[in-house]
Amino acid sequence: MDRSQTKELIENVMKELKEQGEFLPLDSSKEREKVLESAGEILKTTDKIIKSYIRVSREGGAIERIPAYRVQHNNISGFYKGGIRFSEDVSESEVENLAILMTLKNALHGLPFGGAKGGVDIDPRNYTERELNLISKKYVQRFALNLGPTQDIPAPDLGTDERIIDWMVGEYKTIHPGQAYSGSFTGKSVENSGAQGRRESTGIGTFLSYLYMLNEWFPQQKQRPKSKTGARHLQWDTLEKLHTKFNEAGPIDVAVQGFGNVGGVAALEAYSSSVAKHRVTAVSDQFVTLVNHNGLNVEKLTAYTKKNNRLPNTKERLLDWKIEADIKSPIDIIQMDTDVMIFAAIADQVTKENMKDVKADILVEGANAPVSVEADLYLQDQGKVIIPDILANAGGVHVSYLEWKQSRVTEMYSKEEILQEMGNQMKDTLKRVYDEYFLSKEHTMRFTCYSLALRRLTSLLHKHGKLF
Ligand code: NAD
Repeated sequence: MDRSQTKELIENVMKELKEQGEFLPLDSSKEREKVLESAGEILKTTDKIIKSYIRVSREGGAIERIPAYRVQHNNISGFYKGGIRFSEDVSESEVENLAILMTLKNALHGLPFGGAKGGVDIDPRNYTERELNLISKKYVQRFALNLGPTQDIPAPDLGTDERIIDWMVGEYKTIHPGQAYSGSFTGKSVENSGAQGRRESTGIGTFLSYLYMLNEWFPQQKQRPKSKTGARHLQWDTLEKLHTKFNEAGPIDVAVQGFGNVGGVAALEAYSSSVAKHRVTAVSDQFVTLVNHNGLNVEKLTAYTKKNNRLPNTKERLLDWKIEADIKSPIDIIQMDTDVMIFAAIADQVTKENMKDVKADILVEGANAPVSVEADLYLQDQGKVIIPDILANAGGVHVSYLEWKQSRVTEMYSKEEILQEMGNQMKDTLKRVYDEYFLSKEHTMRFTCYSLALRRLTSLLHKHGKLF
C-alpha cells in the first residue's frame, strides 16, 4: 500500500465523516463540510520532508554519498515519533507514507505522539561495524536540529536495532551537552535507559492482535452480527471454523514472512503460546522459506538466526543444527496453505497481481503496508480477515511511550509491568476496532482503523482552533 493509496483512503474516510452528524457536532452542515474539508487537507499534507546526503569513507577507501531522510507528517496529537530504517528500498515517498501511517497509528491507539519516519538508503549487511557507526552518527548530525525528546523521537525499524539507536543517542548527547538526552530516542538498550521488552513488543503485540480476536473477542459475541454483505457472513464462518479448531481439533497453522525483530518474536509467540495449540509451519527471510507441515522448531531457528543473522538456507546447515525443514524460495511463503499468515518483512507483498494465490484465512500486518487496498477488498470478499498494520504492529510504539515516559519520571518499569501495560492498552484499541468493524459499519478493517484515527485527529485540530 503506497503513499497515493494511503492518501486516497484518508480522502474517502473524510468524505464519509462529512455525513456523520454525531461526530463533531457543528451548527450547520455547511460549517461541517468546511471543517472536515480543512482537516482532510491538513492530514493529507506532510509538515516537513528533509533529505540529506551522508558522506562515508568505506574501508576500501572509496567515498560514498548516501541519501537519508527524516519526514515529519503531523504533530497535532503530540511530539513527532517514528522509526529509522536502513534499507536499500528507502525512498522519499516510502518514508513519507510510513510517517503518515505513524500519525494514524498513534491517533488510533490514543498515544500522545504525532507521526514521523526516517530512512537511510543502504543495505546494512554490506557495511562494516565501523561504517554503520559512522552512518548512524552522521544521521544524527544531519537532522540534529529537528530531533529531540520534545520534538521528534526516533526508534528502530527495518534494518536497525538497539545497537544503532545507542550510537545515535551517544551522538545526540555529544551535540547537545548538558541537555536531557535519554528521551531523545526509544528502543535503546536496557543498560542505556531503554525499556525492558521493547525489542519483543512489536512481535508480541502483532500476535496478540490475532489471538485476542479469536480467543477473547469472538467468544464474547452472543450472536452472528446482522450484515448486509456476503463478506461479513463468510468472515464470521471463518472465525467460527478457526475458533472450533482452536478449542477442539487444533493445532492452528501459522506462517511468518520475515524473521527479524517482529517476525522472529511473533513466530516464537505462536510456537510457545500456552493459551492454545499453534504450529508454525513456515517462516521466511529475504533469502529462503523454510517449511515443515508438522511444525518447525522455532527455538532452534531463533538460536541459529541470533548467531548467523539469517535463517539457515542449505541442507547442510539444517542438518548441522538438527532442524527439519524443506527449503523453498522466499516468495513461496505468500501462497502457503496455512490458517494464519503474519507479515513481518517489507511493504507491497500482496497486490492485485498475486492476491488470488493467498490461502491463509487470517492475515496479520506486523510489517507496514504489506497488503494493497485492492487485495484488502478482494480478500475480505473471500471471507478472509485482514488485521491492518496501524492496529496490529503498535506494540512497539506503546512500549516506546513507556520508555519515553520513564526517561521523564526517572523511574524504571519491570518487563512484566511494561508488557502487561502494553497488552492492556492494545486490547482496548483492538476491542474498539473489532466492535465497530464486525458489528456496525461495513468497510474494510483498514477503513475502520483510519476512521477512528481521523476522528481523533480532526477533533484535536478543531479544538486547537486549526480548522477555519
Ligand atoms: P528486521 O530488519 O529486524 O527484520 C526484517 C526481516 O524481514 C528479516 O528477516 C529480513 O531478512 C526479512 N526481509 C527483508 N526483505 C525481505 C524480502 N524481500 N522478502 C522476505 N523477507 C524479507 O525488521 P523488523 O524490525 O522486524 O521490521 C519488520 C517490519 O515490521 C517492517 O515493515 C517494519 O516497518 C515493521 N515494524 C517494525 C517495528 C519494530 O518495532 N521493529 C514496529 C512497527 C512496524
